[in-house]
Amino acid sequence: MSTDTPTRPAGLTQRIDDAAAAIEPRVIAWRRDFHQHPELGNRETRTAAIVAEHLRSLGLDSVSTGIAHTGVVGLLKGKLPGRVVALRADMDALPVAEEVDVPFASKVRAIWNGESVGVMHACGHDCHTAILMGVATVLAELRDHLRGSVKFIFQPAEEMPPQGEDGGAKMMIQEGALQDPAPQAIFGLHVTSRQSVGTIGYRTGPTMASSDRFSITVHGRQTHGAAPWLGVDPIVTSAQVVLGLQTVVSRGVDISREPAVVTVGMIKGGVRENIIPDSVEMRGTIRTFDEAMRDDVHERVTTLAEAVARGSRAGCTVCIEKNYPVTVNDPALTAAMLPTLQRVAGADKVQLVPKVTGSEDFSYFQKLVPGMFFFVGVTRPEVDPAKAAPNHSPRFHVDERALLLGVRSLAHLANDFLQAT
Ligand SMILES: [Zn+2]
Ligand SMILES: [Zn+2]
Repeated sequence: MSTDTPTRPAGLTQRIDDAAAAIEPRVIAWRRDFHQHPELGNRETRTAAIVAEHLRSLGLDSVSTGIAHTGVVGLLKGKLPGRVVALRADMDALPVAEEVDVPFASKVRAIWNGESVGVMHACGHDCHTAILMGVATVLAELRDHLRGSVKFIFQPAEEMPPQGEDGGAKMMIQEGALQDPAPQAIFGLHVTSRQSVGTIGYRTGPTMASSDRFSITVHGRQTHGAAPWLGVDPIVTSAQVVLGLQTVVSRGVDISREPAVVTVGMIKGGVRENIIPDSVEMRGTIRTFDEAMRDDVHERVTTLAEAVARGSRAGCTVCIEKNYPVTVNDPALTAAMLPTLQRVAGADKVQLVPKVTGSEDFSYFQKLVPGMFFFVGVTRPEVDPAKAAPNHSPRFHVDERALLLGVRSLAHLANDFLQAT
């Protein structure tokens, strides 16, 4: 595609902004309603029903429901021929008990992986859903001037489905979300505490990390704590494995290319101070920004753990489960659309931000369609974003002025992309 600033018919830009301003109170109301009634991954039935009903009320050309359990896809065909652009919002909440003092705070509890938990939109997906409903409203009003089609993808279970279930972006793609018609570009946003309200953050290329979990079980041989020579101690061996893993990134990864993280977050072994146990289990997470480096780190973690265990005459089972891929913003698309973000937010409000070691399943869409994922600040101006409660915190707070900027960003990105045909 061209990297020139896309041409727009005079007046359409203004009409998008006017329509966005008009819908703002409803977007805030939707967001508060979703916030008060959060639903966990694959359980977003109430949210999805509200989304589907709203899309139908707009007279979209099609509204499909029940995709990847609770996902909704709406298609809006403009009057003028052109390309197809997709916009994506995620709908699920987190097993977090809310501590924010707002009248619409969540008091919801639910069962998550067998446990009773508080439920909260602690990642701001309530905002994403409400924003995309607003964008659909704005673009549906202007369909006579719209070139091509817009696909609205409302996705469940971005925060991972419950144990033993499939779901999320990958499953939506398997169930045809990117077909009939296939989009030529996809855009998505995430609200973030790391930036002040009014600002937008972006990157080109690798933007968010891949996320993989691993478990390492060290198999020793049980013995009395007073006679360690009679067994094989998996506790000492696992301590050596943990220390050895620290060298995977510090000695093995070319950090001049991309960073990486290997974290052991859980160790379980033993029941008594004077019994050396049979085995120790460790679990952790691996984050990378490059698919080849991802495979390399997996290989290093596996061989290191196995070799350390062998050196202690212990056995070792390593299991690495690949979760979300690297979120990679298409460089040509990002270059072409950056002027749109700068026009919408103001050039001085659009910031090149550091890589994020969190992960996103938007990455699955980007593997098939050039995509751009960007960040919208939600921290109040009087609060230092570095000190604000982060996404996933029970105190995660949203300055709702960010919602209008979210609506305008996605609406203009879609329209500018289609006008540039
Ligand atoms: Zn999250
Ligand atoms: Zn999120």
